[in-house]
Amino acid sequence: MRLMDGHCDVLWKLSLNPEIHNFYEEEQPTLDVTYYRLKQGQVGLQTFAIFVPESVPQSLKLDYALKQVDIFYEKVMMDKELVKLVTSKEDLFPSSPQPILALLALEGVDALQGDLTYLRLFHRLGVRQAGLTWNNSNQVADGIGEVRGGGLTQFGHQFVQEMSRLGMILDFSHLSVQGFWDVIEHHEIPVIASHSNCRAICPHTRNLDDHQIEALISKQGLMGITFVPSFVHQQEDNVKIDHILQHIEHICSLGGENIIYFGSDFDGIDYKIPHLEHTGQIADFVDYLCRYYPEHLVRKWAWENGFDFYKKHLSVKNS
Ligand SMILES: [Zn+2]
Repeated sequence: MRLMDGHCDVLWKLSLNPEIHNFYEEEQPTLDVTYYRLKQGQVGLQTFAIFVPESVPQSLKLDYALKQVDIFYEKVMMDKELVKLVTSKEDLFPSSPQPILALLALEGVDALQGDLTYLRLFHRLGVRQAGLTWNNSNQVADGIGEVRGGGLTQFGHQFVQEMSRLGMILDFSHLSVQGFWDVIEHHEIPVIASHSNCRAICPHTRNLDDHQIEALISKQGLMGITFVPSFVHQQEDNVKIDHILQHIEHICSLGGENIIYFGSDFDGIDYKIPHLEHTGQIADFVDYLCRYYPEHLVRKWAWENGFDFYKKHLSVKNS
């Protein structure tokens, strides 16, 4: 079965030590996501986040984000037969033998310095998706970790409009609750939450409440079940794969079987769920799901929901 992973931070990890980490080396224990592991995990499409930590000074954030784009082109997409960047819906139909498809996404837009010029330039570099914030606040919105819980700024609304004009996809993971509703109420833009679980099952602030999940369902978005232990179960040192099923059950109980996909957060987490510790193990996880759910449902969650979403919302070439 072909699989899709909606979020990983391997570009950030590669940027920390580009001389030592090698995306194409088979034995690479410090990376969760490598070419070999994507193949092993039967991942047909991987979203690569461009992540700039809050601790990076503002004056260096743009440089930091651009270096991750460079690393993507130089170290990941070295051979288009192996990894191919998706920038339009036509790219979703690769010829055989199939390369692994790659989407580039910004995880927070702090690096863009509140300037739409940089948003347009990152779009030209191949970025088709953006989360507005990480957990902190920035020029466009408050993140979920910002205690005042503000929504979009005035500039934030302009920013989302420009994303929409460019044909980009907006990622809610990490955004404040108010920011979520500001986007839903004021903008017509394709929306996803690439790596968030259900707050009703695990009350972590990074998870979505039922109203948010229902809004994603009515917008025909995507919700990436994530493997971050503390987002799966309150006792994060005792999380098992079984606990993930509770989140899937819950989304289905709200009528959301068509929005489920996966957003591992591999290479962005230190603690892992046993047997779900790197991308190479995602195929086993999907096999495990097949023991509990009909194959046609698992196939949707593993691939079809995500594929249909991107096929619908990515622009046509050169548009
Ligand atoms: Zn994240």
